[in-house]
Amino acid sequence: MNIRRTDEDVVMTATPFYATILGSPRIGPNRELKRAVEKYWAGTVGRDELESVAAELRRDTWEALVAAGLDSVPVNTFSYYDQVLDTAAMVGALPPRVADVSDELDRYFAAARGNDDIAPLEMTKWFDTNYHYIVPELAPDTHFALNPAKILGELEEARAQGIPTRPVVIGPITFLALSKAVHSAGPPIDRLADLTVVYGELLALLAERGVEWVQIDEPVLVTDFVDTAAELAERTYAQLGRLTNRPAILVATYFGELSDALPALARTPVEAIGVDLVAGGVSAVAAVPELADKLLVAGVVDGRNIWRTDLESALGTLTTLRGSARHVAVSTSCSTLHVPYTLDAEPSIDSALRSWLAFGFEKVTEVVALARGLKSGREAIDGEIAASNAAIASRRADPRLNNDDVRERISAITASGTERGPADRRRAAQQARLNLPVLPTTTIGSYPQTSAIRLARADLRAGKIDAAEYKRRMQAEIAAVIRLQEEIGLDVLVHGEPERNDMVQYFAEQLDGFFATQNGWVQSYGSRCVRPPILYGDVSRPEPMTVEWITYAQSLTDKPVKGMLTGPVTILAWSFVRDDQPLAQTAAQVALAIREETIDLQKAGIAIIQVDEPALRELLPLRSKDKDAYLRWAVDAFRLSTSGVDDSTQIHTHLCYSEFGEVIGAIADLDADVTSLEAARSHMEVLGDLNAAGFANSVGPGVYDIHSPRVPAVGEMASSLREALNSVPAERLWVNPDCGLKTRRTDEVTASLRNLVAAANEVR
Ligand code: GLN
Ligand code: ZN
Repeated sequence: MNIRRTDEDVVMTATPFYATILGSPRIGPNRELKRAVEKYWAGTVGRDELESVAAELRRDTWEALVAAGLDSVPVNTFSYYDQVLDTAAMVGALPPRVADVSDELDRYFAAARGNDDIAPLEMTKWFDTNYHYIVPELAPDTHFALNPAKILGELEEARAQGIPTRPVVIGPITFLALSKAVHSAGPPIDRLADLTVVYGELLALLAERGVEWVQIDEPVLVTDFVDTAAELAERTYAQLGRLTNRPAILVATYFGELSDALPALARTPVEAIGVDLVAGGVSAVAAVPELADKLLVAGVVDGRNIWRTDLESALGTLTTLRGSARHVAVSTSCSTLHVPYTLDAEPSIDSALRSWLAFGFEKVTEVVALARGLKSGREAIDGEIAASNAAIASRRADPRLNNDDVRERISAITASGTERGPADRRRAAQQARLNLPVLPTTTIGSYPQTSAIRLARADLRAGKIDAAEYKRRMQAEIAAVIRLQEEIGLDVLVHGEPERNDMVQYFAEQLDGFFATQNGWVQSYGSRCVRPPILYGDVSRPEPMTVEWITYAQSLTDKPVKGMLTGPVTILAWSFVRDDQPLAQTAAQVALAIREETIDLQKAGIAIIQVDEPALRELLPLRSKDKDAYLRWAVDAFRLSTSGVDDSTQIHTHLCYSEFGEVIGAIADLDADVTSLEAARSHMEVLGDLNAAGFANSVGPGVYDIHSPRVPAVGEMASSLREALNSVPAERLWVNPDCGLKTRRTDEVTASLRNLVAAANEVR
């Protein structure tokens, strides 16, 4: 049904809906899509089989959503790789370098992953989540043109199945804000008028097919990524809203509060606005009079964390909002892409913990219950509310959530301060103990995860070998890595991390307060999935987690072996974190556990300890006004975890991602003795920034890009080092690759590290 209106008389004629979600997972409940796509890439299954797996997943998803009671179902949220890349394909903005790939799907995959001749598009984090999207490239000659095959195909498929469909696309503002200008094109956002025209064409096509509602996602409106978000939103949606030949429009926003973009959107003729009421407050929404003739899609069920919704309080929020909008629909705060499919796949969760949780499917049930409660009154969902209240009470009362000893110890330590001794005194004490050459060489921690390592882990899981045999095999790996490093001539060695499946999960499995799921997979990017642990209670460390492996490695060599730990911010960033206390408090508890580990490592004679914080930048809030508070607690947590050791113990940290700009001051504040950074691709610019931030400790800007199989030449790395010496004096410069080596092959690593040592020798 199309919308008709005159300028004065804005009437909503589309039928409102009452229960929906903004999107859903697509990898398959048992990662069916991952497997099919990877087999297709490997050439072991054909196109037909891949497409039939995909179609079956879509069909099952839609069917389940309707059966659960949603009256509007998102379609076109399926993706073979990524929804931003899908949008680039839809608006004709794939890079010209893939144009020669004749097949459409293979062209798409070439843009995502590259091939022997084509460099892939970059990938980066989707807002403050752990999902990575593909960054579209816009050149001066990028010409937008609508390619609606995917969206129309999925639409017809869903309709044939009788689904109440609501096609979903990423909006033009968000698409441009997340794109990157190449070949000296101007800022992508300057192309908004052009691109809006293409969206207008899409809306007309959808209207011709009788589509009643379309969802246009504009999460960027909750950020400060574009300066004039409210203005852009008003202009764009006034323009699209004025079109007469279009479906009703839901502009969906998520991950934060809209601020002045909300009244701006509400002033446009769009019929519905989606707001995230988990990340943002209800009062800011209730106070917008322009919402009075809209459908408000109220995201009261958390789409990105795994906690069960407090139905009583959510229903209260919805009831408050009823007075502010013409209609209120219940929804998740964002797509449930970011949570696992269902709790049913977790047989080993204890019943208390299970009762506190809601994964993707359980969230749909919550949405439906709330919509029923809103329509028919609280009594209609008495049973559901009672169960939700019981779960909340059980969670509050659970002794695992409150470990007084942990809380008291943190207060005592923070009260007495988390400063280490002065940096120059530390440097002198460490140099006396370690006696390292100038320009010391080291690596970031992991060595290649060989097939023997993977086999040992699989055998242990399958019960084919016992823990003792597993330990023996890991020790053999460690011994081999130590031998290799000695032979190459590195100065500071590592044990290689063979025993770690994942740098967060490894610690989560050993800490109290965490639960590791069996099947809680979520898409990280493309076909890659991760299983974030659930941090549900007060965190404590029952026993040492790494000391045995590190001391074993140290027993094999006279060179110092660096202990290897993951930092508190990174552990939080890659977990589902409890929502019943400030993140800062939870971070401090994880930090205390890491601190205890550093103290035990020191006691065991380890002289160098690295605490990795690759995710420091990831958790950076989306609004500038929140950034300082975040960086303060992030730095505090790091310092809590690293200040328990003597001056003579050298603390290293490692950070990835070449864009350090906004966190550069925080990196200096971490006050690690040595900081290794990804810099191989950003050409040492970061060193000048660090100097400007007052950083005066040692630094190891990566001189070898481990993200590529290429073996860097001695001369190349030597010239990087000479360049670095322009900004950092030799006594403060370290020589290392830019990240861990676990994704590389042993032969590549060996050749590259030999060259790295040769480069250091040459420059010395
Ligand atoms: N120590 C880790 C490793 O070497 C660091 C990984 C990372 O930076 N993401 O693998
Ligand atoms: Zn790294």
